Amino acid sequence: MVENITSSKQAMELEAKYGAHNYHPLPVVLAKGKGAKVWDVEGKEYYDFLSAYSAVNQGHCHPKIIKALTDQAQRLTLSSRAFYNDALGSWEKYVTEYFGYDKVLPMNSGAEADETGLKLARRWGVVCKGIPNDKVKIVCCEGNFHGRTITIITMSNDPESYANYGPMTPGFIRIPYNDPAALEKVLDEQGDEIAGFLLEPIQGEAGVYVPDDGYLKKCYDICKKHNVLFMADEVQCGIARTGKMLACDHEGVRPDILILGKALGGGVVPVSAVLADDYIMLNIKPGEHGSTFGGNPIAAKVSIAALEVIKEENLVEKADYLGKIFREEMTKFQSPMIEKVRGKGLLNAIIIKPRNGKEAWDVCLKMRDLGVLAKPTHQHIIRFAPPLVITEAELRDAIGLIQKALKSFE
Ligand SMILES: *Cc1c(COP(=O)(O)O)cnc(C)c1O
Repeated sequence: MVENITSSKQAMELEAKYGAHNYHPLPVVLAKGKGAKVWDVEGKEYYDFLSAYSAVNQGHCHPKIIKALTDQAQRLTLSSRAFYNDALGSWEKYVTEYFGYDKVLPMNSGAEADETGLKLARRWGVVCKGIPNDKVKIVCCEGNFHGRTITIITMSNDPESYANYGPMTPGFIRIPYNDPAALEKVLDEQGDEIAGFLLEPIQGEAGVYVPDDGYLKKCYDICKKHNVLFMADEVQCGIARTGKMLACDHEGVRPDILILGKALGGGVVPVSAVLADDYIMLNIKPGEHGSTFGGNPIAAKVSIAALEVIKEENLVEKADYLGKIFREEMTKFQSPMIEKVRGKGLLNAIIIKPRNGKEAWDVCLKMRDLGVLAKPTHQHIIRFAPPLVITEAELRDAIGLIQKALKSFE
């Protein structure tokens, strides 16, 4: 029997009883969203400062994106790639021109796009660079988050991600993040067997860890010197979030393999993609990789609308401008619970100094009570990443509520 949800309590009880316990949500049950705001089952209003991990950069239920969804949903939803459909080609043209690559390969989740990027790099390493098939390696970074598949958790050094899931995938070397010398060393020593270097230009899940200025460019140059592909996972930090279209744009770096997800589907449907030039992409031949839902007509039309909204509403410039206001106001604000404010554009974090037994989780509960939703990433860090369509007045209002929450612990 389908149970009708009439209270937040009831919804949480159902999830606890019937759903796997693989998340620990903040206790709030959302029923509606519009722009930068969401409402719970009881009708209480909140500012959304998570944006579904930056999948909702364009704001909740953006009318243009929803129109693309509903129009296409009434014509054709899925063709599979066994046949052509009349939406995919125009998405491929739009996306490759938008980001400046020869080709794009569509998938659904961020993890799938990362896996695809890894397969492309390995394939290029074997076929073009001449690395023996059983020797090819990828370099990744400490603190990374690239998703949840077995191969991807192999790269993780967070026990919550990898522990007790059995044997891991061989072929990875992990080096410290924000340490170009470590990359230089490993490529000097083993560069002949390394196909690619995969990194997040800003580490989102690690707690919005922003590397030093110049890090990306240095790593890119080191990769070029050793004929290693520079692979950027921009699933969270890409698509206007950090005040540039891509976080790599802050340093003028063009990744050899660009991995996108989250906001590529405007928070409406899962769309992910890998972009690369022909010399990399065309090493995968028909039948050698794919996805049943990847490149479906709804995803194609929704994704075009989602990317158009970014440009039409100047969300890159907005993220840059509003991000500066957020960091300025929060840095000025004196609170014994703030250890550090950091970030770029509207991808920011506050490191919380626990006080009288109160931690980041308690701050998030208090903010919820006051009408702002955010969640700790790791124990002491709160990420603040509202939809980029938030207005300056809304942002300033929310900043006031965040500061009020922090003050309540003094
Ligand atoms: C969220 C995220 C992923 C995984 O995306 P899913 O859609 O959850 O599989 C990969 N990389 C980064 C940087 C992410 O933030």
